[in-house]
Amino acid sequence: MKVLKFGGTSVGSSDSIKKVIEIVADYNAQNIHVAIVSSAMSGITNKLMLAGQKASENDESYLDFLKEIEELHFSTIKDLLRVKNQSHVLATVKMMLNELEDLMHGVFLLKELSLRTTDLLLSFGERLSCYIINSYANQQGLDTELLDARLLVKTDNRFGKGRVQMDVTVHNIQEYFKAHTQIQVVTGFISSTDKNETTTLGRGGSDYTASIFGAALDAEEIEIWTDVDGVLTTDPRHVKKAFSLSEMTYEEAMEMSHFGANVIYPPTLQPAFQKKIPLRIRNTFNRDFSGTLIKSVADSGNYLVRGISSIRNISLVNFQGSGMVGVAGVSSRLFGVLANSDINLILITQASSEHSICFAIDPKDGALAKLVIEEEFSREMEVGKIDSVAIEEQLSIIAIIGEKMAHTPGISGRLFNALGKNGVNVAAIAQGSSERNLSIVIAQKDTSKTLNTIHEVFFLSDVKTLNIFIIGVGLIGGTLIDQIASHNQNLEKDHALKINIVGMTNSKKMVFNEDGLSLDNWKDKLNDNDEVSTISGFIDKMVKLNLQNSVFIDCTASPEVVNKYESVLKHSISIATPNKLASSGDLQLFRTLKLVALENDVKFVYETNVGAGLPVITTLNDLKISGDKILKIEGVLSGTLSYIFNSFTTGTKFSEVVKQAKEKGFTEPDPRDDLNGMDVARKILILSREVGLDISLEDVDINNLLPQSCIDAESVDSFFNELENANDYFDELRTEAEKSGKVLRFLAKMDNGSASVGLEAVDQTNPFYALDGSDNMISFTTDRYMERPLVIKGPGAGAEVTAAGVFAEIISISHFLG
Ligand code: ADP
Ligand code: ASP
Ligand code: MG
Repeated sequence: MKVLKFGGTSVGSSDSIKKVIEIVADYNAQNIHVAIVSSAMSGITNKLMLAGQKASENDESYLDFLKEIEELHFSTIKDLLRVKNQSHVLATVKMMLNELEDLMHGVFLLKELSLRTTDLLLSFGERLSCYIINSYANQQGLDTELLDARLLVKTDNRFGKGRVQMDVTVHNIQEYFKAHTQIQVVTGFISSTDKNETTTLGRGGSDYTASIFGAALDAEEIEIWTDVDGVLTTDPRHVKKAFSLSEMTYEEAMEMSHFGANVIYPPTLQPAFQKKIPLRIRNTFNRDFSGTLIKSVADSGNYLVRGISSIRNISLVNFQGSGMVGVAGVSSRLFGVLANSDINLILITQASSEHSICFAIDPKDGALAKLVIEEEFSREMEVGKIDSVAIEEQLSIIAIIGEKMAHTPGISGRLFNALGKNGVNVAAIAQGSSERNLSIVIAQKDTSKTLNTIHEVFFLSDVKTLNIFIIGVGLIGGTLIDQIASHNQNLEKDHALKINIVGMTNSKKMVFNEDGLSLDNWKDKLNDNDEVSTISGFIDKMVKLNLQNSVFIDCTASPEVVNKYESVLKHSISIATPNKLASSGDLQLFRTLKLVALENDVKFVYETNVGAGLPVITTLNDLKISGDKILKIEGVLSGTLSYIFNSFTTGTKFSEVVKQAKEKGFTEPDPRDDLNGMDVARKILILSREVGLDISLEDVDINNLLPQSCIDAESVDSFFNELENANDYFDELRTEAEKSGKVLRFLAKMDNGSASVGLEAVDQTNPFYALDGSDNMISFTTDRYMERPLVIKGPGAGAEVTAAGVFAEIISISHFLG
């Protein structure tokens, strides 16, 4: 004998009911005797509840709910039953609905809805669904019979959540089944008192009904058929990567269900556990899948944690005061008054200082809890021994659960480390001494992020997901997106890293997809999207999405974006950027940003600000961290100026070289923006700050390279005219240098606490002598690299290498996130 329980979604439509009856017919064909327990059709219990509430508020809209309830049941009957079978069933259902309407009308007139009446109203859900299922099963040739569980399942008179009187119930069931050998179609969830008043077993209680019947009948297995593949590692509505567990113990299932995984109603485990009857959770819509088997001993595979569950919307009550320390009886008084008021405590923690006790409750109990505690401790409060009761709202509890967690060190370390890096603040922590459950209380808004973060840590430690937001999708941003698109598969396969570009924006439009945007034709998709972009709009949305492992990539040159960095970092989002304005702008802001990043345990990186993809800043920091002292930095830090002076050899004209550079696209539209040395000055400034100098752009000594006439020229064309006039001047500089075997280089320097940029003649012994093309080159003279400086050389400009540099930073952030 097996007991098969079908949840609301499994009987939510005619198509689903057909699937249910196929499952039953299958067992029948295999000669396996079954009993069916069913819930109300999906959504009906809620509608009955709402209708009751409306009616009690004297609001006629309850009739609309009733209409919807009638329509769903009628259309289901019409879909399922052949015409000749319909009229009788429709008539019976109509009669039940009339009775329901009369009851609701009573509530409407009385403007009062007791728990007792609520239970009666709700019972119609299961009575209607089971009546229809039974009629359809009969029509399909199955020998079934309807069983109203109120006849057998007896409870006390706690309406809303009756406590089952197990002995009499078990006896009733056993006796009844002796006399009824057909397949019973049992109404889940509903029960009755000694006086035959209708009660219910609590929301979700059909699972419990199935377990009670299974235990009473010594079933070989109780199958709970639902709409997911069994018990999953965590709530699939929050974590898309949740996967189903093949086995778990009763205790683990109990912990999971108590902590909100509504796939099983908590009391369900008890009857099955006592009789050691295995429970199997299965998917009506994926029948071939074996689901999750719950039993005494379970193979938990390699995972230390079995599951993660969450309860949203709880309140935390904080009860504290100096007068509590060492005083016996305070907690018994506290919990006594709460118990007397029927307030359920979901979690309790007490600091070992005994100075405070804090506990989680349903928010609906908040006001009452405060009242009764303040009444009980009024004397202590008057004299200041106990503070007034503080309640924090809109919180969630997240619990990690697993047998193997016991006596395994390091679990909480991994948990809190990941939460810290994602900016999740923990308001309270509780671990049962069984060590099977570790619970934390967090802000409700962080629920999804927390579940995803923890899930990744304990179940997907081999695949990390980064959620990327890119602002500015021009040359560098666009190239970065293309690089990610073409490399993502390899990253996932070879490096267990998945980069989801969740948001991107140009100056006009923005697009988002929480699961990662698809990157083919991304430009068109962005431009065709309706969502108009603003910088704050984009950032607000990123913050609101509140995804774990978020990284913000600023590929603009906008000061406005830089002004938002602080708030981005404060939301625990890392920043990687080729935008130089933060690192070379206001010193105070820059220092603040570094500090805020540190405080929030996120990264703020800008390696591509100097030397594009070359590892300049990283190397500098590595030297520093390893105890070396940076004495001097010298560099050719502009690809443009490198190209210009490397090409300005004997026989060339300076103006021609600059023109060529412009034609090749190496210069800014106005080449003076390169020749004025400002860009190089910013770069040496950034390196100097990295070394530890507190300097700003004004402090960099910029030795201008252009004659005044070139600087003053009004247009780019007239600049080139002036530059031709200056050819002799540049020739002279070059010949002068050549005389002593030197060449001209535009160098940036940091030496002796100050920074400068300017044109210099260098001889063959100087590393910059042999530079070619548009390469950058940086040399660090340090305590350890004194005689022969450490030199980094390579292409220091261009979208490909710059984007690759940002890409490398994204990967290093993923390592940092652990
Ligand atoms: P039924 O109507 O079949 O009783 P429920 O809605 O009560 O179904 O429970 C199934 C739902 O529980 C799933 O659809 C899923 O969204 C949710 N759920 C929450 N946590 C878990 C979990 N850890 N494993 C499986 N499902 C879960
Ligand atoms: N129909 C009831 C509810 O929605 C019982 C159940 O589905 O288990 O709570
Ligand atoms: Mg359920």
